[in-house]
Amino acid sequence: MEKTRCLIIGGGPAGYTAAIYASRAGLSPVLYEGMEPGGQLTTTTVVENFPGFPEGVDATALMDQMKSQAIRFGASVRRGTVTSADLSESPFTVSIDNTDEIVADAVIIATGASARYLGLPSEKKFRGLGVSACATCDGFFYRKKDVAVVGGGDTACEEATYLAGICRKVYMIVRRDELRASKAMQNRVMSTPNIEILWNCNTLEVLGDEAGVTGVRLVRKDGGVFDINVDGFFLAIGHHPNSDLFSKYVNVDENGYIITDGRSSATNVDGVFAAGDVQDPRYRQAVTAAASGCRAALDVEKYLLGK
Ligand code: NDP
Repeated sequence: MEKTRCLIIGGGPAGYTAAIYASRAGLSPVLYEGMEPGGQLTTTTVVENFPGFPEGVDATALMDQMKSQAIRFGASVRRGTVTSADLSESPFTVSIDNTDEIVADAVIIATGASARYLGLPSEKKFRGLGVSACATCDGFFYRKKDVAVVGGGDTACEEATYLAGICRKVYMIVRRDELRASKAMQNRVMSTPNIEILWNCNTLEVLGDEAGVTGVRLVRKDGGVFDINVDGFFLAIGHHPNSDLFSKYVNVDENGYIITDGRSSATNVDGVFAAGDVQDPRYRQAVTAAASGCRAALDVEKYLLGK
């Protein structure tokens, strides 16, 4: 059975950055990329807020560069998805694609989170062409245009408020007659003049042409169907951290996010660390994920030195 000192699970900014640091520290890490190499960032097109790229950078290219950087220093970056893990004690045993097993002295979980989508075929068709689950990533492309945000939680309110500063008009599509968000966020939305809440509405279809989204077809609770014209359609109906495989061993919060000790990336299991969106319900940015990957690799280095 293959053995490694440092196993990194997840090929997003957190995982690749952890691999860069761990390989430069001589730990010869092994990284499994999972089902979505490059992570959530690859669902967008251009990244304009990653420092160092004044003209913006293609999201997939950015992730490829991070991966190449890790490989250059000796990380073994592999296609493959972790299908089970025994994290009861070090060394940890992890199964890949239900076939291969690898044993690791330390593990960094960097499996990210997945945005929830409505599940409409038209939403899938226009993903990256006007449909987005990240206002901070893609909002800028809709400057002075009209957009819609689905959801009524804190994220939806935050994204709607953020977009209202960029866009001409923001519709919030809310399926009930009240918001789930905190009172403070509700007040902020209510006091923003270019946000209009469409209460009791569900999305039937995202409308568009070959250039992308042109509108949304909605249905009111009373059955009335109507269209709105928008160029951008933002989902803010929650995220799901990809922690299910590990939550038998590591502590997670009520939404499934892995709990780290705050000052470091350590979980409750000695030798298991977490980085990126799987442990971060708050910031969820490529740059914050990368930074937490760095922290995790430094924590692993220290942990292995002490062993
Ligand atoms: P939430 O689960 O809190 O809210 C999801 C929202 O999406 C709800 O309004 C829900 O409607 C709606 N929704 C869910 N499914 C659908 C659907 N199929 N169609 C239409 N609407 C749907 O998720 P958030 O991401 O907003 O927040 C997650 C956690 O993170 C929360 O605890 C939140 O407080 C926290 N957070 C805190 C922030 C802060 O403090 N600044 C910022 C962002 C998040 P319904 O209400 O009807 O269920």
